[in-house]
Amino acid sequence: MTKTKVTVTWIKELIRNGDTSPFYNTKEWGALSERKRRLEHYECERCRVRGIYKQGRIVHHKKYLRLYPELALDINNLECLCDDCHNDEHHKQTQLNEERW
Ligand SMILES: [Zn+2]
Ligand SMILES: [Zn+2]
Repeated sequence: MTKTKVTVTWIKELIRNGDTSPFYNTKEWGALSERKRRLEHYECERCRVRGIYKQGRIVHHKKYLRLYPELALDINNLECLCDDCHNDEHHKQTQLNEERW
């Protein structure tokens, strides 16, 4: 399935189906997340605040996609994180939270 335009309606549909991975495979997300990584010089933003340099590989939705699909492609809602910080972020949440990223 090739998606030409990401819409909030489509994302909500994915959330309802319990699998948001198609969103992360879109060109739009690919381009935006790459722009965000470049903007942060591929560094983890949370480690940087603590004076540590770590590579930031993951672009995370500060306001979770599942809860705020309308902010899915808002660059201000994104955070560039390393694996550790990203895991911490999601482990703070209940185990029932199925959101992957
Ligand atoms: Zn980090
Ligand atoms: Zn995340």
